[in-house]
Amino acid sequence: MSESLFADASKRLEKALKYASVSEDAIERLKYPKTSLSVSIPVRMDNGSLRIFQGYRVRYDDTRGPGKGGVRYHPNVCMDEVQSLAFWMTFKCAVLNLPFGGAKGGVTVNPKELSRLELERLSRGYIDAIADFIGPDVDIPAPDVYTNPMIMGWYMDQYSIIRRQLSPAVVTGKPLAIGGSLGRDTATAAGAFYAIEALMPKFEQPPEATTVAVQGFGNAGAHLAQMLSKAGYKVVAVSDSQGGVYAKKGLDIPSIRRFKDSHKGIQAIYCEDTVCNVIEHEVITNEELLGLDVDILIPAALENQITEANVNSIKAKYIFEVANGPTTSGADKILEEKGVYVFPDILVNAGGVTVSYFEWVQNRSGFYWTLDEVNHRLKVKMVEETQQIWKIAQELSISMRTAAYVHALNRLGEALSAKGTRDYYINS
Ligand code: GLU
Repeated sequence: MSESLFADASKRLEKALKYASVSEDAIERLKYPKTSLSVSIPVRMDNGSLRIFQGYRVRYDDTRGPGKGGVRYHPNVCMDEVQSLAFWMTFKCAVLNLPFGGAKGGVTVNPKELSRLELERLSRGYIDAIADFIGPDVDIPAPDVYTNPMIMGWYMDQYSIIRRQLSPAVVTGKPLAIGGSLGRDTATAAGAFYAIEALMPKFEQPPEATTVAVQGFGNAGAHLAQMLSKAGYKVVAVSDSQGGVYAKKGLDIPSIRRFKDSHKGIQAIYCEDTVCNVIEHEVITNEELLGLDVDILIPAALENQITEANVNSIKAKYIFEVANGPTTSGADKILEEKGVYVFPDILVNAGGVTVSYFEWVQNRSGFYWTLDEVNHRLKVKMVEETQQIWKIAQELSISMRTAAYVHALNRLGEALSAKGTRDYYINS
């Protein structure tokens, strides 16, 4: 794509501005990231050589609270991507009314090529490099693509060593035994599931009559596929970065998860289990998955998957964005014209950061909740904000994406204006 990811992301903001009650000053402020940090991380490799990795952390806005957002390990990580992800986090936290601003981090690396010890040294090195930039009241990292609870544990440990003080609230998504929250591992999927369950009845689309394709079989995609199939939806296709499988009659998600865990990839391994005998399936590419004739399409992998180049192949009626930024603004426009309902990332995938917020609250109070308490609170929040955004979309006849931005902008605008606006000073 010639245009930067951030320039494309900003178009959503411009579109929402005319519907939101927000001052010109607030708009101006939200066009720019507050602070961006670029670091180099020296890592001693197992063979004795030294490699320097590039790392980033962007705090986009912290008007409503400390920066919040995950850290991504991926070969394509760059400042433009991290800044865009931090921008989305700002709006996501406002959509869910969490007392956080938006931030994001990343390291340009293919973690699959590192040994476990190299991964640990890189992770601790990343925290050494950004330690002055983060903190429980400043900016709180979490997992994202290809980072996991153990890495978050290393982050907490390294930060605590630097500060000489145990600081569990500096990072969320930690292992349970060292301050993690019950329900954080399934939170992104659970949040998306609650949004789907709140929205689909509006279209009189019962689960049994609903086919679903899920692109991406990481933490969010795999758990969500399983939750949907357990609730009676017919999940006919799933994929990972290597490719996917399709079965008209529906897939057996638990067995795919078992395979993926033991064999590392979905493609061509599905057939090794007995489900193959009862379910005929085809091996498909990621591109083919996006164009399947299903009711619900769930992009749950990376950004820029549905673009102007492939949008015309989309046949799904409803798209729930579990990945961050899977649809470009150009594709969005075409989907809207085609009458496809796109439920945006900043609402649909907000379950993860919501339970991160719960984890942070538990760390700070030292009082830990049951799984039922976590899930109940998550459901209440997801359903409430989903209904409010639906109402805005209906009242203003705008897309759910624009409505979600309007909803977030109203909250961000109020917070930014609480410190004084142009009108306040000029008319004094
Ligand atoms: N990386 C997740 C996201 O994009 C979670 C962020 C968090 O928990 O802070 O929403």
